[in-house]
Amino acid sequence: GREWRLLSRPVGWPKAEDFELAEAPVRQPGPGEVLVRNAYVSVDPYMRGRMSAAKSYVAPFELGKAMQGGAVGEVIASAAEGVAVGDHVLHFGGWREYATFDARQAVKVDPAAAPLSAYLGVLGMTGLTAYAGLLRTAAFKEGDAVFVSGAAGAVGSQVGQIARLKGASRVIGSAGSDDKVKLLVEEYGFDAAFNYKNGPVAEQLRAAAPDGVDVYFDNVGGDHLEAAIGSLNEGGRIAVCGMISVYNNTEATPGPKNLARLIQTRGRIEGFLVNDHQDLQPEFVREVGAWLRAGTLKHRETVVEGIENNLEAFLGVLRGDNTGKMIVKL
Ligand code: NDP
Repeated sequence: GREWRLLSRPVGWPKAEDFELAEAPVRQPGPGEVLVRNAYVSVDPYMRGRMSAAKSYVAPFELGKAMQGGAVGEVIASAAEGVAVGDHVLHFGGWREYATFDARQAVKVDPAAAPLSAYLGVLGMTGLTAYAGLLRTAAFKEGDAVFVSGAAGAVGSQVGQIARLKGASRVIGSAGSDDKVKLLVEEYGFDAAFNYKNGPVAEQLRAAAPDGVDVYFDNVGGDHLEAAIGSLNEGGRIAVCGMISVYNNTEATPGPKNLARLIQTRGRIEGFLVNDHQDLQPEFVREVGAWLRAGTLKHRETVVEGIENNLEAFLGVLRGDNTGKMIVKL
């Protein structure tokens, strides 16, 4: 089977030469292991961090070895109790066609309950990120005005809709194209949205949220964060989920110039990691699952076909080629 390997650590934007798609033997499972044929593989912005050597909350990818990431696939051989051939599992052996691993690292998923790709997105990691970041870290409450950046992406589109469904007074989103902006308002029910490429973020945000924002869910950092601080209401909360605008920077980016505004607003900025909020999983699946079935929460996926396009799909996420969760279908 084919697998993607990191050959050298990218500086700035990753280049094709930093990677190779190599043929690797398919290993039969040893005791307690399963062999899975991947059906859908996830590409996520955080993977850029794992390509660098810097210490972080997940270890860097090892040079010359298969990269990792979320994936769902079908068990085609099993030497593990409780996992049978034909079962579908969510696991971490992505960026490859076949994966052999300890069955305890996999979670069974039901293809009858939801399409398999949903377990990587709307009902998976990015969905829980939206749910936990908005409801727990940002301590969202009914009546809050919520601003989310990266709003047409996997996490952001769910943040805005959860806020609306839970009684936000106003939901504002920003995204990088006019089509995405249209989608936010017309399909996801945002009250206002703007294209951050059309003008200064601070001005566009002030126009979209004339009464300020109580919650800012940050996926982007940079100008967006500074603008949100500028529009923050008293008691406002900023949940820092991601800062995609700086992931390929080679030098540290200057911070927001207006942090003093946190004093008068008693504002709070707090980062979070989805990994720390797994306890919300059952509640998340119950609530979001019900909204999906009722059709009140909508989601998109951008599906790229073929393991050979895994790298392009990943770069596409960094460029903004995706609307909703970016998925590679094998
Ligand atoms: P998305 O589906 O949102 O895809 C990334 C999007 O970022 C692109 O589609 C693009 O959309 C936008 N983007 C790229 N460059 C820029 C830029 N310079 N300025 C503004 N927007 C940009 O990805 P995810 O939903 O998977 O992730 C969203 C964020 O959440 C990321 O920052 C990610 O790192 C973070 N994250 C954090 C987690 C945590 O535990 N804290 C867990 C999961 C994700 P556009 O066309 O609008 O520019």
